[in-house]
Amino acid sequence: MIKLDRSSTTNPSRIELRRKEASYLASIGSANLRYANAYKDGPVKALLLHESCGKCMYCESQITHIYPGDVEHIEPKIHFEQRRLDYDNLGISCWSCNHEKLDEFSATTPLIDPYNDDPAGHFIFIGQFIRQRPGSARGRYTIELLKLNDRGLPERRLRVIDGIAYALERYESAINPVLKRAFEHEIEIFIGRCAEYSAFARAYARACGYNP
Ligand SMILES: [Zn+2]
Repeated sequence: MIKLDRSSTTNPSRIELRRKEASYLASIGSANLRYANAYKDGPVKALLLHESCGKCMYCESQITHIYPGDVEHIEPKIHFEQRRLDYDNLGISCWSCNHEKLDEFSATTPLIDPYNDDPAGHFIFIGQFIRQRPGSARGRYTIELLKLNDRGLPERRLRVIDGIAYALERYESAINPVLKRAFEHEIEIFIGRCAEYSAFARAYARACGYNP
C-alpha cells in the first residue's frame, strides 16, 4: 500500500457526481432513490483508476482488463448511506480485497485508508511481507482483515523483488555511464508509483542502499 492523492475537486467527473449526490441525498427516505448507483459511473471509475495508477488501493495489485476492479466504499455504504456518493469515500480495489473487506467497519480501529492516512506510518515492508509498525493496531487490523500476507500476494511480490534485485546488481556493477543510466531507469520503473507492489520494491532498494 502506498500513499494516494485525490484529483482536484474541480474535476468535471467529481462535479457531476456531486450534482447527482445532492439529488440522491434529497431522495433518501422516498420511494425512488435517485442516482443510487452513480458511484459506478464510467467517468467516476476512470478517475479512481487514474488516481491509483490502475492498481488496487489496498494491495497494489494491478487491476486487469479481464477484471476491471470494484468501486470501493471506504466507509461501507450499508452503514453510511449519506456517504454512498461522496467521492472522498470512494476508491478502487481488486476483487479479493473487496471481498475480504465486505461491509466490515470498525469505528475504533478503521482500516488504513491510503488517501487520508500515510501507509508508511503504519506498515513496514520486509522482503515480500508486510508487517504493522509496532503499536499500529490499525495496521495490524488491515493486514489481517484483507489477508495481505496471503492470497498468493507474497509470491507475486517476490517476482518483483527478484526483478529489482537483478536491476540493482547490474546497476552497481556497471562501469559504462550509459549502461549505468539505463539500469537506473529500470530501477526507477520498479519503484515508481505506478509499478505493481512498488512499496516492496522501494523498501528493498532502500535496504540495498540505493539512493537515486
Ligand atoms: Zn487488492
